[in-house]
Amino acid sequence: MKNFRVTLIALIVWTAASGALVVLLPLERAMPFLLLGLCLIPVAVFAIERLRDMTLTARPDTTPAPPVPPEALTEEHLRRVFGEGGVTPAWVPRLGPAPAPVDALERLGGPPAFLAPVEWPRCQRCGTQLTFVTQLAVGPVRPLRYREEGLLYVFLCQRVESEKEDSGCLCQDVDSGAERCFVQTRPSGPLAITVDSSGPRLARGRAVESWETAPSVRMPSGVGTPEQYSLSAAVSDRLEFQVGGFAEWIQGDETPGPCACGAPRELVLQFDEFEEDLNLGGAGRAYVYACSARHAPDAFWLFWQTA
Ligand SMILES: [Zn+2]
Ligand SMILES: [Zn+2]
Repeated sequence: MKNFRVTLIALIVWTAASGALVVLLPLERAMPFLLLGLCLIPVAVFAIERLRDMTLTARPDTTPAPPVPPEALTEEHLRRVFGEGGVTPAWVPRLGPAPAPVDALERLGGPPAFLAPVEWPRCQRCGTQLTFVTQLAVGPVRPLRYREEGLLYVFLCQRVESEKEDSGCLCQDVDSGAERCFVQTRPSGPLAITVDSSGPRLARGRAVESWETAPSVRMPSGVGTPEQYSLSAAVSDRLEFQVGGFAEWIQGDETPGPCACGAPRELVLQFDEFEEDLNLGGAGRAYVYACSARHAPDAFWLFWQTA
């Protein structure tokens, strides 16, 4: 019986209090207090049990989920959990302090540093200047593969007007024309860069100092195990900005169809909102796909999903 101890304690308290009352007062004057005390016993038992239940049920809510230990995120362990085909390396930038030097060739935010002067790209849907997001090195043996050494520039339209949704210009869909990603190849001879501060860009610029690899994982089709879900979330936390690897979809799988040249398109870059002034719809994620044949310098496309 769950309430037995509490009831017993309440009875002992009542007996002690009654004894004291009978000693101090004549029986007829003590009687109403004795009866009142007797009625209060079930109320006290109920109140104490209720309090105990509340503290017991409140406890799991305040305890955070156990963190995934670092050794669970090794490539070896992830291959055991997701299978051989479910793990592939991605590259993660190690960023320097803000602001980045203006001539930093690999950067997130800040003004673009072009290898050759170019007119600031405009949105094909609304005509406004696109916002510069990042520029990253490409090359035959780099994580961002291209047939020649150069830089990939990523721009997207930030004309997002929440009051009038129709006038917003969201590049949530691939091939919508509200973004531009293109490569400039490195000229032979001395490097002359053009830092262009004339168009919209993220206020804070940070240089990429180096790249390190981290495994990215793919959830199996269908329902995953609880272990797969928690490991996938922990992996995704480390991959807020990644080159290569698997796409981590916020909504459903939106792998775009083949390039106009017939070659399949592949994921080359994926990033979350990493500065306050980059709007991807709130907790959104952008995906940059490239023609796997890299048939042209502008055979790159960006689209994003939002939670
Ligand atoms: Zn636009
Ligand atoms: Zn192509």
